[in-house]
Amino acid sequence: MEPGTVIIVTLTALLAAGLLVWGSASVRASFYLSMRCRAEGAGHRVALTFDDGPDPERTPAVLDLLAQRGVRATFFLVGERAETHPELVRRMVAEGHVVGNHSHTHAGLFPLSSLRNTEEELHRTTESLTRITGLRPRLFRPPFGVTNPTIARAVRRLGLVPVGWSIRSLDTVSRDPERVATRILRRLHPGAVILLHDRCAGSDRLLDRLLDGLQKRGYEPTTIPELFDIEAYENHR
Ligand SMILES: [Zn+2]
Repeated sequence: MEPGTVIIVTLTALLAAGLLVWGSASVRASFYLSMRCRAEGAGHRVALTFDDGPDPERTPAVLDLLAQRGVRATFFLVGERAETHPELVRRMVAEGHVVGNHSHTHAGLFPLSSLRNTEEELHRTTESLTRITGLRPRLFRPPFGVTNPTIARAVRRLGLVPVGWSIRSLDTVSRDPERVATRILRRLHPGAVILLHDRCAGSDRLLDRLLDGLQKRGYEPTTIPELFDIEAYENHR
């Protein structure tokens, strides 16, 4: 090969590799899956989403606050935690919140799993949540927001609707609810999907600040199915 050709081939390979990394790492890139990350034409409505629960220590305080403020949210649940705390899952549904699938174990190596294991992780969670609530959830948020061709295939085969986010709160990193709320509110936009966690210390204080900020700016929090006008559960309206 000519030196020029070698450079072009190398650059093309680097670009392709870079695109793969970017596609896997960035939930907003929607590279492998068409994710719901922000709603167009949603006006001043936004969706609050809580990942990784239910947590017996912290989820109840979040639910109490949501009830007090008359706000409904979407919870992406870890199947094995849902099985251990089914009463919290039933409480979520009874209080008008939406529950979705966030894998069975949320294992660190989930993105590297085989198709069989990935399907098993998602299927088990769907079955658990269906058994607990009587509703078969359609919404799925990938652990760590990572997608790849295997996860994309599993999601399509199981007929799930993948949901991403447009504002990441970093509530798992910062211990200061005030700063996290300010960070979210600075990034606020119509149709935003806000990523939160109900297993973090100070989840309820952060939520309180956030709801104040949303109200002051004229934003209305709602659920993912309402924001995107889609069904939360199979055969259910
Ligand atoms: Zn998670």
